[in-house]
Amino acid sequence: MHVDNAQDLSDGHAFAVRLMQHLVVPTFVLDAERRVIIWNKACERLTGVMAEEILGTSDHWRAFYDEPRHCLADILALGSTEELDRLYETHSDPATGTLGLKAENWCVMPKVKRRLFLAIDAGPIFDENGVLQAVVETLRDNTEQRLAQMALQSLAVKDGLTGLANRLSFDEKIEAEWLHNKREGTPLSVLLIDVDHFKLYNDTYGHQKGDACLKAVAQAIGAQVFRQGDLAARYGGEEFVVVLPNTEPDAAKAVAERIRHAVEILALPHGASLTCDHVTLSVGVASTVPDESGSHDTLVAAADAALYQAKHAGRNRVSIGAVVPA
Ligand code: GH3
Ligand code: MG
Ligand code: MG
Repeated sequence: MHVDNAQDLSDGHAFAVRLMQHLVVPTFVLDAERRVIIWNKACERLTGVMAEEILGTSDHWRAFYDEPRHCLADILALGSTEELDRLYETHSDPATGTLGLKAENWCVMPKVKRRLFLAIDAGPIFDENGVLQAVVETLRDNTEQRLAQMALQSLAVKDGLTGLANRLSFDEKIEAEWLHNKREGTPLSVLLIDVDHFKLYNDTYGHQKGDACLKAVAQAIGAQVFRQGDLAARYGGEEFVVVLPNTEPDAAKAVAERIRHAVEILALPHGASLTCDHVTLSVGVASTVPDESGSHDTLVAAADAALYQAKHAGRNRVSIGAVVPA
């Protein structure tokens, strides 16, 4: 009877291992010493690493990353959940919910040489005394969904023609920076940029060349806006806007002058322009330390008024708006 039971148990164990081997979900199992005891077929297919290369070792990281590091199963076995923020793009809160961990990450997959975005689950297995016996890690390839999500996110925040941030991004940015600079008591600057005589450009060269011109101008503007926290966006049509948080009027004027110059030296021919024989920009600058008396709308209106002055003063120039009183 006793022998039969043991036989049953051992048959049951063999069956469980076989089941796991052929499970369609990529799965591996670590023992309590974090050595690989199961590396299933689906895991071989996903990683390109064969079970015989990895069983009995603690080298499972090699299947996913270039450098030695803990995988989710290690973190669960070690209880080192403080590593999650550093090692994973997203992860579940280890303080809540189940005993297991969930995370997502870009993995370099050295063997198959293809970056994959993996959704990872790690679950503990305890013996009857509550002692950790093993950790099961299951993997799901979410690369396509992640890329689709990233493309959608980028569509939502980027302008389709120029690749700069779109109007929606600008609206969110100016609102956030108004509040932030108000809290900090620091100056917020805005540049409004408009292509000179662009209607004549379209009339002369056609709308498609007009689009190409806007792309080139946008790229030149974007290249001059590199400080972390600054934003260059398409405001609409042939108008662009730059948000410069924590920036004094003189520094904002210098950025505006740099942008104006960068487009001037592109020397894009504009035979029909009334003021110059190539494409130029006019720029209005406004700065203020945000307070209760104004809003980001008054700041943008001041930049718009300055832009109008630049146009009337002859175009291809930077004009500083009356700084909105603090
Ligand atoms: P100003 O120097 O006073 O700014 O003159 P302007 O001709 O640039 O000013 P206006 O605002 O009259 O003309 C803007 C032109 O920009 C008219 C419009 O057809 C063109 N435009 C706006 N958006 C686009 C676009 O996406 N592509 C192209 N090709 N043209 C555009
Ligand atoms: Mg315009
Ligand atoms: Mg214009």
